[in-house]
Amino acid sequence: MTAKAAQGGLSPRLFFEIVQQSPLAISITDENANILYVNPAFETLTGYDEQAILGKNESILSHKQTPTKVYSELWSTIQSKNPWQGTLVNRGRTGEAYLAELHISPVLDSNGEIRYFLGIHRDVTQLHALEKQVRHQKELIESVLDAAPVVVALIDAERRVILENQAYKKLLGDLHGNEPAILFLDALHQDGVELKSMCRKGQGFGDMEVRLDIAGRAEPRWFSVSGTWVDELDSTAGSYFSAQIKGRCCLLLVANEITALKRQMEQVRMQHLRASLAQQRRVQDMREALSGAIFQLQTPVNVIQAAVSMLDHGSDLNRTREVLDQVLTSGQQALETLRGALPEELQEIETSVNLNAILQDVLNLMTEDFLAQGVVIDWHPQTVLRAVSGRPNQLRSMFMRLVENALLAVAESGKDHRVIRVTTRSQDDGVQVVIQDNGTGIPEPVRFKVFEPFYTSWAHAHGRAGMGLSMVQETVNQHGGVIDVNPDYVDGCQMRVTLPASGEHGEFGRETL
Ligand code: FAD
Repeated sequence: MTAKAAQGGLSPRLFFEIVQQSPLAISITDENANILYVNPAFETLTGYDEQAILGKNESILSHKQTPTKVYSELWSTIQSKNPWQGTLVNRGRTGEAYLAELHISPVLDSNGEIRYFLGIHRDVTQLHALEKQVRHQKELIESVLDAAPVVVALIDAERRVILENQAYKKLLGDLHGNEPAILFLDALHQDGVELKSMCRKGQGFGDMEVRLDIAGRAEPRWFSVSGTWVDELDSTAGSYFSAQIKGRCCLLLVANEITALKRQMEQVRMQHLRASLAQQRRVQDMREALSGAIFQLQTPVNVIQAAVSMLDHGSDLNRTREVLDQVLTSGQQALETLRGALPEELQEIETSVNLNAILQDVLNLMTEDFLAQGVVIDWHPQTVLRAVSGRPNQLRSMFMRLVENALLAVAESGKDHRVIRVTTRSQDDGVQVVIQDNGTGIPEPVRFKVFEPFYTSWAHAHGRAGMGLSMVQETVNQHGGVIDVNPDYVDGCQMRVTLPASGEHGEFGRETL
């Protein structure tokens, strides 16, 4: 240092003055920590004047509350010729304790041996008290959040959870590790909540209902979700002098579980649904029976019509022609009467539909049938499913028919272990529902024929005219979807229905905030 000082033209006196006038408490000791020098700041901080402390050991400052292992580590570090830094409980001349943040550097002679130690310390008692206060407040906030019976999470712009409470962690476990916050955001996005623009405007949202379907769980869980935007404070060095610099935009999500309330409302809704489905079923059954009769009558009427036109060319068969004419007219009248008797199909408005909810209704409505037949229902909904646009009642009856078919197929198979598996999943452009059973299966030659009217292969007719799948096909067509039997599935039957996603809210793909 002397050489460098000389090069810079600075005198040793200047270095002494710098140490003397430093606001930090500086001491120089021999290799056993006996004090050789202290500066005025040291005198002020410790209360010892130079005369009283020179020759004494630094241990005079020990309050005897610092654990011995700290001193052992201090000494083994500095004796290895390395600097040491740490915090000790010190005691000034008056006996009052203070926290000292201490740096010790060994000073070596020209042989590289330790000759002196340089100690620099400052009082950090107040700083420590403040840090403790902040930590305490944080713990207090966390324990209040943890005690709250609602799910709370703070999410950053990259959809990362940066703070969560106990209820959130519990839900995370219930969802088998699927991040609840992300599921909430995906569901809200489907409901048209545009998070990016909300963040820009600082707008929050309140009490949005979110439904989460959980694999293996009979009923969905419902949450009322609210969001508030908060600016995370910028703690980088660049923002030190500027209170204006805003930090990241974070979303505080608060979700209150309302499953119990929904369950009550659901019971009432199911009663209404049962009644309206029964009515719809009556209409459909009548349509099915009359369509059957029309179909049966149409063939002989067509034959008679052909015979009449053939007779038109003969002259001696006038009487026969007259009789046939009468038969034809009465046949056509009968057809018209039957057509007139066809009840109107119940009209429904097209709306945005969650197929998980529709299928859940179907499974609930058929619970008693499953129990009676000893069938296990394996329900695998996608936790948050894209919406489709459609007519809910029509879709409900359609899926009911497919599940009823599955039920008949497992019953006719005579198997002991009877399983119907229902799966939903979002695809790029729609939603796929798979209804799979381990029943009799549909042989390859009739895989397409089963969708034709009046085709039936049930061993027992079960009072069915074979119109079920053709009506299912009609509903799928009306919804712009497709239905097929998976040819690769051999343990029974796997019906795949794909319906296009609702276009109402544009693209529902995952996005960041
Ligand atoms: P001691 O019996 O002195 O020591 C306790 C343990 O420290 C021993 O078991 C041993 O492991 C180690 N130890 C002590 N002296 C030596 C030695 N000479 N060689 C090897 N190991 C040793 N202490 C403070 O409490 N406050 C201070 O502000 C402070 N400033 C210091 C500044 C400098 C520059 C130096 C070198 C030391 C400083 N110390 C300070 C440490 C101090 O010298 C004592 O080691 C410490 O205070 C413990 O004292 P004690 O009487 O409780 O135990």
